[in-house]
Parts: sequence; C-alpha cells; structure tokens
Amino acid sequence: MKFDTVIVGGGLTGLVSGIRLMQKGQKCAIISSGQSALHFFSGSFDLLNNLPDGTPVNNPEASLLELSKQAPNHPYTKMGESKFKELAQEAKNFLNEIGIKIQGSSTKNHYRITPMGMIKPTWLTMPNFAFFEDGKFPIKKAAIINVEGFLDFNPDFISEAFEKIGVETTINYFNLPELNTIRKNPSEFRSTNLSFVFDKEDNQDLLAKILTEKSQGCDAIIFPDCIGFRNSDVLPKLIQKVGKPIYLIPTFPPSLVGVSTQLYLKDYFTKLGGIFMLGDSVTHANIEGNQVTELYTLNHGNIPISAKNVILSSGSFFSQGLLADSKQVYEPVFDLDTDYLQDRADWYNRNLFEKQNYQQFGVKTDKNFHGIKNDMPIDNLYVAGAILSGFNPLKEGCGAGVSFLSALYVAEQILIKEKTYEPIAQ
Ligand SMILES: Cc1cc2nc3c(=O)[nH]c(=O)nc-3n(C[C@H](O)[C@H](O)[C@H](O)COP(=O)(O)OP(=O)(O)OC[C@H]3O[C@@H](n4cnc5c(N)ncnc54)[C@H](O)[C@@H]3O)c2cc1C
Repeated sequence: MKFDTVIVGGGLTGLVSGIRLMQKGQKCAIISSGQSALHFFSGSFDLLNNLPDGTPVNNPEASLLELSKQAPNHPYTKMGESKFKELAQEAKNFLNEIGIKIQGSSTKNHYRITPMGMIKPTWLTMPNFAFFEDGKFPIKKAAIINVEGFLDFNPDFISEAFEKIGVETTINYFNLPELNTIRKNPSEFRSTNLSFVFDKEDNQDLLAKILTEKSQGCDAIIFPDCIGFRNSDVLPKLIQKVGKPIYLIPTFPPSLVGVSTQLYLKDYFTKLGGIFMLGDSVTHANIEGNQVTELYTLNHGNIPISAKNVILSSGSFFSQGLLADSKQVYEPVFDLDTDYLQDRADWYNRNLFEKQNYQQFGVKTDKNFHGIKNDMPIDNLYVAGAILSGFNPLKEGCGAGVSFLSALYVAEQILIKEKTYEPIAQ
C-alpha cells in the first residue's frame, strides 16, 4: 500500500493534518489505534491561557514574544510569532470552512465553564456552549435543568459558577418515562445515550414543554451537553419551541461534543477520499538513512505500508504515543529521541494540582518538526500534537492549540516540500 502521507494517530492532530493534505490533493491514510483525547473534549479549544511562569494570558498573539523567552523549545516558539498568528487564524477558518461554526479570537481569550464549575479562559468555543467575555454573562436569571439521576453533570457546581458572574440561578430536575430503561444501568446513563432519547422527533414537543415549565421566570436555560448528537438541527429547533436561549455545559466524559467532533472530522476526511484504518496500530517502521521507508501494523502483519511522508500524531501518555518505564520515557514506534528529566523523582509532584513535569515530556524535533533519532532529523517524518515536548498543556492551557497549529504546520511543511502548494502570503 502506497500513499503520499501516512498519519499515525487519528485524534485532533491527525485528522486536521489529514484533511488539510487531502484538500490540497494528497492521497493520505490515517492509522489509529482507538479513542482520542477528543472524547474528553470540553467544547472549547485552548490556545494559550498562561505563560510558563504562571502569568495569565489575555491576548495569546501578544504573549508570543514573552513565551518564546520563557520556553525556547515550546512548539509555538519553534514555529515563530508570525507563523503562530497566521496558523491561529487559519485554524478558525479551517473549522468554519468544513462546517464547524466556531466562535473566538486569538487576540482575546474568552471564558468557559468547566463540568467542575470552574471558570477558565479559552480560545474557540463550539456553538451553543455557554461562554462570555469581560466577566459578564448576557443574562440575569437562568434555570439550570438536569435529568433526574444523571451524575455526569452537577448543577450545584454550575450554579456556583454562574452566581460568581452575577447570574441568579434556579436548579430543576425532570424525567422522561423513556429514560427509565437506561437509568437501570448507571454505565449506560451517559450523555450519548441520553441524546438518543432527546434527539427523537417524537420526544421534541414533550421536552420543549418540560423545559418551558421548568424555566418559568428565567431568561435562559442551562442544560448539560446531552442533546443533538451528530445532528446540529435538534438544539436550534428546541430553542425555537421554548422561545429562550439554551446554553450547553460540558459534562464529565464521555463528551458528546467531543465524540461528535471526532466523528465529524473522520467523516470529512473519508469523504475527501482519505483511508481511515480504525482499530489498527503501527507497531514498528523501517528507517534507512534519514528516511522512513516502511510502516508495519498489527492488522497488516508483514505487509508494509509506505508513503513519501509520515506524520506521527499518536498523542501523549494518555493515548500511549509516549510510554514510560522505571528509567526512561520513550516513543514506541520509531524509538525517536525524547525529552524528559533523568531523575524519576522529578517526573511528578505528589500534590496533584501542582505543575507536573511529566506533562512537558515528549518527542524532540527540529524547527520544522522533523522527528529526531540518535540526534539525526528524519527527513520524511514529521511530529505534531500532544506527543511533542516543550509545553505543559494543563498549566499553560494550550493543548488543543498546539495540536491544531502543529497539525497545520506539518501539513504545510509537507506540501511545500512536495511543491504542490503555494504557502499562505505573509
Ligand atoms: C483527557 C483530556 C482532555 C482534554 N480536553 C481538552 C479541552 O477540552 N480543550 C483543550 O483545548 N484541550 C484539551 N486537551 C488537550 C488537547 O485537546 C489534546 O492534547 C489534543 O486533542 C491531542 O490531540 P492528538 O491528536 O495530538 O492526540 P490524541 O487525541 O491523544 O490522539 C492520538 C491518537 O493516536 C492513536 N495512537 C497512539 N499510538 C498509536 C499507534 N502506534 N498506531 C496508531 N494509532 C496510535 C491513539 O489511539 C489516539 O487515537 C485534553 C487532553 C486530554 C488528555
């Protein structure tokens, strides 16, 4: 099997780079072992919320110079300030162009509410999710409405968050008889399964009637993200029937918006003609000189897969793109050089909420994001996303931003190299 580019890992990074390359006429395959971090997605993409020294960031673009001083190996520092700005804008356009209408700006963070009721800055937020700017939410009184027995959404946490931003709240619960079957099994009483019930045409009027009754005297409804799975028409229709805004709040995993986004991107990639090999894992590769020549996977055994270029986007420890044993942190497919602290005692802090050094470990690359093996860059192997070293996604609040921008960056590098692409004018 021969491709222009083969991508190892089908999370946010792999899918964005795959779609971009297919849009520009390449023949691509994505090989992906399983679920990705998108299944835990909050509905908001973070670009840069804090500098490494903890200084809060309001304007990510304006903070790049200081970031590059504090973090010389940060992926954003490697791409440079002007490329960062260009790709941040490009990422938003990319989503809008493929039909994901997203809101936000790389020159001003806005705020979102987490399932724990924390208020956090962020970059881009999906439609219908609650977000606000400058400490003000545009309503006075909201009805927080939850499904009886649904534990992945805690109205008390959410109420506290809204009260902090000056919104008065009421908390209400409801049931639909049809939910009683799935309620018997707590592992099935999750956002995706609730959505199968709420999204049914037959249940729409009843749901609208309940939400109207439970939100009497309120300007808006706050609802858990468990409606409109893979069908973006359901919520707008419900809002019309109820006659007031309904704002979604992300639930504890699984994330409905995350699973929907993953499937949407995957479908988009395959509609463009891309091959998505789900449930297969790249086990090892042949490297000759500074070129990857063949990839081998679990399902294809000794049949090699070859490509002019390879993107490694297999994620961090969470997705097993990185592994650790008692002595080292390593990348299991190509055995690329990795950045980590030698003394294992320095890897983590016993206080869970403190900065964890292991978050910053990852694969070393050069400025063009080539993977490096035994100190030598591999010319046709690019590394992108959560597997990269040099940044702390949690403390800096830059996880999805690094994934998105590095995905577009490596796609551009490949297209420039293959000369099928005019770089975006500066
Ligand atoms: C739990 C969690 C929640 C997050 N939530 C948010 C959020 O709400 N907002 C935000 O801005 N950022 C968030 N982030 C950060 C950011 O979204 C992620 O870092 C980003 O989605 C990572 O994308 P990725 O494609 O690089 O890696 P991943 O999403 O981890 O995907 C890697 C993929 O590679 C596959 N894979 C691994 N090894 C192989 C192999 N050998 N062969 C084939 N496939 C392989 C894995 O199965 C997986 O599908 C979150 C991160 C985590 C871990």
